[in-house]
Formats: sequence, structure tokens, C-alpha cells
Amino acid sequence: MKSFTHKNEGFTCCVCGAENPPASATCRNHCLKCLYSLHVDKNPGDRAESCHGRMKPIQVEVARGSMSDIVFQCEKCGVVKKNKIASDDDRETLLSVISEQ
Ligand SMILES: [Zn+2]
Ligand SMILES: [Zn+2]
Repeated sequence: MKSFTHKNEGFTCCVCGAENPPASATCRNHCLKCLYSLHVDKNPGDRAESCHGRMKPIQVEVARGSMSDIVFQCEKCGVVKKNKIASDDDRETLLSVISEQ
């Protein structure tokens, strides 16, 4: 039997294998290295979504000169969602998402 998983626990990314430490202030839902997320929430943190597809980072929003949000698209069902950038997200990956826009 699997024990209850707290949403702020660290996790190992299923896309790139990076170890993600537990988030202190925010509810981390994307990998700090490749920025991929998983389509598991209907609303942030509720784990009510049954899709479980990989959410690809397709866009980084810039507000007043600084990066603010990542826009994800689910590779399985195509839904688009936004999430706040975390302070330890990989800057080079963020910049590469921007340059692909
Ligand atoms: Zn990753
Ligand atoms: Zn999905």
C-alpha cells in the first residue's frame, strides 16, 4: 500500500530524471531542470485530473522585464495551463523556451 504523498515532497522527474527538492514556499508542480509538468491537477494541488499526460513548457510570460509564468500544454489531451516560475527553475531552460517562441 502506497502511503499518502504530501504535495510539497520532492520528486524525481519522469521526463529528464532530475531530483527535485521539496518546495518550501510554493507547491512545485514542474521540474526545475526541464520544466515539464504532469497533468494531474484540475485546480492547483488538488490531484483530481485523471489525464496524467506530460505538460510541455511552450511559452514563458515576461511581465515588466522579468519572467513570471510558464505556459504548459498537455501532450496527451492538449489542454493549456499556466504556473508561476519558481526561484530555482533552470534559467537556461527558461531562456531556451523563450527563444523557441
Ligand atoms: Zn525534468
Ligand atoms: Zn492532459
